[in-house]
Amino acid sequence: MSKGYFSAWGNFPVKLGDLVTLKTVKEIQSFLYHKKPFIPVGNFKSYGDSALNDTMVKFNPVKTIEINRQEQTATVSANVLIGDLIQKTMPLGLFPVVVPGTKFVTIGGAIAADIHGKNHHLDGCFSDHVLSFEIITADGKNIHCDAKKNQELWKLTCGGMGLTGLIISAKLKLRKVSSSIIYQRTIKASSIDELFNCFENNNQDRYSVAWVDCTARNDSLGRGVFISGNFANNPRNQKLKLHKDPKFSIPFVMPKYLINPTTIRCFNSLYYNLSGNSKARRQTHYDNFFFPLDKIKNWNRIYGDAGFLQYQFVLPKLSSSIALKSILERIVDSGEGSPLAVLKLFGKQNINYLSFPMEGYTLALDFKNTPKVHQLLIELDSIVNNNNGRIYLAKDSRIKPQYFKNGYQEFQCFKDKIKNQKNIQSLQSQRLFK
Ligand SMILES: Cc1cc2nc3c(=O)[nH]c(=O)nc-3n(C[C@H](O)[C@H](O)[C@H](O)COP(=O)(O)OP(=O)(O)OC[C@H]3O[C@@H](n4cnc5c(N)ncnc54)[C@H](O)[C@@H]3O)c2cc1C
Repeated sequence: MSKGYFSAWGNFPVKLGDLVTLKTVKEIQSFLYHKKPFIPVGNFKSYGDSALNDTMVKFNPVKTIEINRQEQTATVSANVLIGDLIQKTMPLGLFPVVVPGTKFVTIGGAIAADIHGKNHHLDGCFSDHVLSFEIITADGKNIHCDAKKNQELWKLTCGGMGLTGLIISAKLKLRKVSSSIIYQRTIKASSIDELFNCFENNNQDRYSVAWVDCTARNDSLGRGVFISGNFANNPRNQKLKLHKDPKFSIPFVMPKYLINPTTIRCFNSLYYNLSGNSKARRQTHYDNFFFPLDKIKNWNRIYGDAGFLQYQFVLPKLSSSIALKSILERIVDSGEGSPLAVLKLFGKQNINYLSFPMEGYTLALDFKNTPKVHQLLIELDSIVNNNNGRIYLAKDSRIKPQYFKNGYQEFQCFKDKIKNQKNIQSLQSQRLFK
């Protein structure tokens, strides 16, 4: 057990607590016997307070990855990182169907947040490609879940932010790929409407994402750079080349004035103006395409010692255009730009109680943690709420319970069904499940 100050990727909030590391199912069961409140943790790559509490439990056995090439599946322990998995699958011409924007997420964390990638519009969430998982529930039972067996526990666990127990292993479907190269298309869009058109016109591309300049105003409101891609068909018999460890690291927490409205405006203008010609195509390695931020270790330190907030919401397609414009206008007026604003298109919602994606557009924004930003986010919450949107729990540390309930229609049902698991709680669940 180690005592210390813990935080997720946003470095906010910070919690003094105990991190308990358990290596076997027996150890988990004897820990549970004492009924001490805890929350499971993976690799703290969520942003807010969903993995924080007085006691945090990490299941960390020797990592196991078993691949069945014929079936195109992998059976893994829950502490395996997406990056570990790719190291094993890519040389065999296989790739996880859904990956997030970093390789440093555990399989347990990916299921618990039911993460999405750049291909939600075609492939859905992470759990849509999980064949089965094993979980130790609050009463110490080791339960196997799949689409047919224990479906209720499945629906509660995928997207349930760790509140149903400790996931210990999973069996995943993999995608066949014949190269490690992505054919990428880049389109510069001069407004938010143009960006929406890019998504709609290129929705046959498996992966798509856009960077949005949220300092641009008036006719340029929401201008950005749209990027889409597909795995290439083994161009020139290239080998299936793996990613490497990051070469650069931010060595210490940067002074907080480094990120300010002027530097953000300059960065955004430069990025927009330097981004390729209006319709460029190129080949790039999967690591550059899926995980560009992983190239710099500890990049979260650039926001200073108060940390930062990632604000991610989704809006139904019908209200996306109008609501996004008013959100972007509000951000521009506040002067609190975000250097990283990422727009994605979501396809249909799945059956899980608290999975975040619904059909529509999602925007994720990074903001330095300041009192003014908290004020701004309260205003954005109400725009999201008034337009029937919802906020992503994996990124949240501050929304009010009412907005959470309005956003997630199945919330009450979820709450009723987990009411007996009182010893599993996070700072987030204590705030939202009052
Ligand atoms: C740079 C960056 C980019 C990202 N991009 C994306 C993206 O594109 N799409 C996306 O959806 N998310 C994205 N994320 C968020 C990230 O994928 C999720 O927050 C994920 O849950 C983090 O996994 P983790 O293993 O670090 O878990 P933690 O952060 O440690 O925990 C997250 C949640 O999972 C629960 N949990 C963790 N392990 C277990 C377990 N074994 N059993 C039960 N519950 C568990 C915790 O209780 C907590 O509620 C990104 C994060 C970063 C830092």
